[in-house]
Parts: sequence; C-alpha cells; structure tokens
Amino acid sequence: MKIKTKLRLGFSLLFIIILILGALSAYYLNKLSAEAKLVLKDNYETLEYTRLMLYELDKSDFGSSLNNFERQLIKQESNLTEPGEQVLTAKVRHHLEQLKATKDTLNIAKHQQQIRASLNKIMDLNLKAIIFKNELANKTAHSANLFLIFWGGICLLITFSFIVNFPGYIANPIKLLTEGIKEIEAKNYNKRLSFTSKDEFGELAQAFNSMAQKLHDFENSNLAKILFEKKRIEAIINSMNDGVIGLDEHQHILFVNPVALKLFGLNENDLVGKFAPDVALKNDLLKNLLNNHVNHELKIYADAKESYFKKEALNILVPQSNLYPEKNINYAFTNIGSVYILKNITAFHELDEAKTNFIATISHELKTPISSIKMSTQLLKNKQMGDLNPEQNDLIESIQDDTHRLLKITSELLNMAQLESGHIQLNILPASPIEILDYAIQATKTQAEQKQIKFEINYSDTVSKVLADKEKTAWVITNLIANAIRYSHEQSVINVKMLETTKEVKIIIKDQGQGIAPQYLDKIFERYFRVPGTQKEGTGLGLAISKDFIEAQGGNISVDSEFGVGSVFTLTLIKSFS
Ligand code: ADP
Repeated sequence: MKIKTKLRLGFSLLFIIILILGALSAYYLNKLSAEAKLVLKDNYETLEYTRLMLYELDKSDFGSSLNNFERQLIKQESNLTEPGEQVLTAKVRHHLEQLKATKDTLNIAKHQQQIRASLNKIMDLNLKAIIFKNELANKTAHSANLFLIFWGGICLLITFSFIVNFPGYIANPIKLLTEGIKEIEAKNYNKRLSFTSKDEFGELAQAFNSMAQKLHDFENSNLAKILFEKKRIEAIINSMNDGVIGLDEHQHILFVNPVALKLFGLNENDLVGKFAPDVALKNDLLKNLLNNHVNHELKIYADAKESYFKKEALNILVPQSNLYPEKNINYAFTNIGSVYILKNITAFHELDEAKTNFIATISHELKTPISSIKMSTQLLKNKQMGDLNPEQNDLIESIQDDTHRLLKITSELLNMAQLESGHIQLNILPASPIEILDYAIQATKTQAEQKQIKFEINYSDTVSKVLADKEKTAWVITNLIANAIRYSHEQSVINVKMLETTKEVKIIIKDQGQGIAPQYLDKIFERYFRVPGTQKEGTGLGLAISKDFIEAQGGNISVDSEFGVGSVFTLTLIKSFS
C-alpha cells in the first residue's frame, strides 16, 4: 500500500473516531436532556396543577374558588403523561361536575373527598414517575458514561498507537536512508537498505540498493583498472636504467626505483614516506638533487664503479579544474609534487672523454709541425734562402695565413681539451694589465692593418696590477680584439680602454662591426656556437674558452651589442693588493 493511501487511511480513521465520539456524545447529551425535560415539563407541571387544585379545594369558600380549580383541571387534562392518570383526571372531572350540580352539603363533602383522593393518587402517580424517570436518567447517564469511557478508551488506544507508531513509520526509513547515504559518501558501497515494504519507501530502498550496487561495480572495475595501471607504471619506473625518485607536494618521498636506491645507498624503508629535506641532511646525493642550483653532472660511486649522472627535475602539474569544458581550456594548474630523474650519462661521458683526449693529442701533435711550417715560411719570406719571384711571394703569404689559422684552431682545440679534461693549470700571479693589453695589441696589429682598422687606446699608466694568468689572459684579450677586427668593417675604429674600480680592472673592447642580434647574446659563450649566417671562418670555441679562463681566475666576461652598430666586450679582472 502506498504511503499516500496509508496516510489518507490513518487520518480518515482519526477523523471517523473523532466523528463517532462526537456523535455518541451528542446522542447521549440529547437523550439526557430529553429525559430531564420530560421530568420537568410533564410530571412537575402535573404536581403543580394538583397542588393548586388541592389548595383551592381546601379553601373554606370552595364555591368562589371553583373557577380557579377548573382552570388548573383543564391544564391537567391536557398534560396526561402517566398510565392511569387519564382515568384519575376523568374521575376528578366527574366529581367536579357532580359537585357543581348538587346543593347537598353531604354530597358536596363526599365529592370533595373523592376529588382529593383522586388528586392525591395523581400526585402519587407523578411523584413515582419522577423518581422512576430520575432513576432512568441516572441509568442513561451511567451507561453513557460507561459507553463513552469504553469507546473513548478504544479511541485513545488507537490514537496513542497512531501517535507512537506513525512518526516512526515515516521517520525510521528516512533515518535509515540518511545513514545509507552517509555510508555511500564515505565510499562504503557495500551498504544496503533492508526495508522491503511495497510502498514508496520500498521503492526508495530498491533504488538506493541498485545505485549502491552500481557504484560498487564501478568502483571495483575502476579500482582494478587503476591498480593495473599503477602496477604497469611501477614496472616501467622500476625497469628504467635511470634513477627515479618521486616526491609529493609537501616533499614527502612517494617512490624510489631500484637504480635510485642503489645510487642513494639506502633501502626503501629509509626513504619512502620520509620528509626528503630530512633525509637530505645525511645524504649528499639527495641534497644535490633537491638543490635547484646544482646543475652539473654528478659523479657517483656505486656498484664498485664510478658513474656519471645528469639530474632532471620535473614539476608534476595537474589541471585544477576545467573551467570551460565546452572550450576545452584549462586555466589553472596545481603542483602535486615533483619527480627527479638521475640520467645515467656514463657512456656519453666516456665518449666525451675519449673525444677530448683525441682532440688534445691531435692538436698537440699538430702544433709542432705547424709551428715549424710557420718558421720555414718566415725564413722564405725574409729572403734568407734567396729571392722570391712575386708569384712565389704570394704563395708564401697565403701559406702563412693558412698556417696562422691552423695554429689558432689547434691552440683553441688544445685549450678546450685541457679545460674539459680538467688538465688546465692556471698560473695566477700579480700581473700588469697594461703589459697584457700591449701584447694583445701587438699580436693583432698586422691583422688590423690589413683591414685598415685603427685602434683608439685609452688607459692610465697607473692602472693597478691584477691577479691573472698572464699567458691565458693575453690569449683571451688577443682573441677578443681579433674577433673585433674580424667582425668589423674595413677602415673602422676599435676602442680599447681600461678602467679601474676599487676592486677590479675592466678592459673594454668596442667595435663598429656588424653587432650581434639580441637573441644570440646569451649563446655566444657556448661551445661551438656561431651566430647563424656568420661569414668568417671560425670554430665557435674562442669565447667559450675565454669565459672559462677568465672565470677560473675569479673574473668575468660580458657582452653588450646593438645589431648593425657594433659590440662591446667587457673583461673584468680582480685587482691584486699584494
Ligand atoms: P669564432 O669567432 O671562432 O666563430 P667565437 O667563440 O670567438 O668563435 O665567437 C662566437 C661567435 O660570436 C662568432 O661566430 C660570431 O658570430 C660572434 N662574435 C664574436 N665576437 C663578435 C664581434 N666582435 N662582433 C660580432 N659578432 C661576434
């Protein structure tokens, strides 16, 4: 049965009960009032008439009160209620008529007596009737009381059970449903509702159970899928040759693959779930990983051998919410952690080392024969071996140019190889920057003259000494001036000046050449980088080597350039105070 029908029936029952009780009460009240009315109206009035008739009869002058007597008798004649009352009243009328007709005092007294006797009987009859009716009314009131108490009790019981049971009937299923929904909210999809009534609550329970079942199935299938995917990803990460460590957004370690465990020299329990900066206090490798400023390759001794690793840090960003799903645009991302990868670059490192050694050997081996070619051509050019015809002279000059270029390349390659292998030895001592600059200017003079380029040199003779490797610094300045000449137009001017500050000496070389486009300014100090489209021959190594040399001495080298106008290279050297 539907709840709606049940509610209707329940309230209808209550309504009927109220109606029955009302009707019963009204019925008994009416009955009582009718019975009481009867007592008053009929019997009491008869008593009053008979009392007045007796009063008139007892008067000494009955003849004059006869009329009053007859008036009361007429009223009595129309108020006959009790059985026998009519006969007695007729008797009174009969004796009254006899009395009126006779003059005989004896007869009069006899009729008066008869009338009195009849009146007394009538009174007696009515008094008895009053007592009887009073008893009847009492009985009726009593039975009405019992009846109302009985039915009232039954109605009370019904209403009481209704009051006790009905709220529960409505509220209990709602309570169970609320509990069920809370369980579902807490992801307990095994929760079921057990009320099986055929009403709306039964339907609700059925719908709830089928929803919970579907959620359970969905969760299980999803969970199985997610677990499978998790295992797959774990297997991939674990089978990688690179070390991988994952951190959550609060820097707690989530996972570490076996390679990373070996490199850290720790086991899983020492890492997983721990706060990474705490572990890093006792583990240098983890400290280097977490330090954003450490970007160089890391040399790690593990598994009884030295390996080289490059660190890669990735922030894991997930879309916060799809604000405009219809446009498929995500505007906000949340960082949910980071992954650090230690890439094993040992093989590359070994190859690089082999390459560096090879270059070092070759350039070293080439340097001696090239130098002897240079000396021989110089002898030929100086005509110490006899005169040369103009063609021979041109050839010698061309050989000299190429020899010079070859020497430059081999010297750059050797320098670079030494830098890369770490075999470079700097001889840092107090040195005069003027001497170094003069040497570089002398070395590049012929080159400048060939392009009719003029030097404008500006420095004070009192410039302080600097802390530098004389030879390497001269090499750097020569390289900077040579570049200025190479990338300048003919007949232009190169400004070379020296400035002194409290702690440093700056050598500034400014040309009026082609300049460098802004997007390449950062890159020109990288190894083998040459600005795209550069016509002149070169290796792209000069500036990279210069930067390494100068920084190794505690100095600095920087560039400023306006494309099409010229470039300014500034070399900063540390002053010597000894
Ligand atoms: P190389 O000159 O052998 O190519 P460098 O390392 O000396 O190598 O220079 C790198 C690049 O920087 C050059 O190829 C050139 O494009 C650019 N460059 C260097 N100096 C200047 C300069 N003074 N003016 C314009 N471009 C320059």
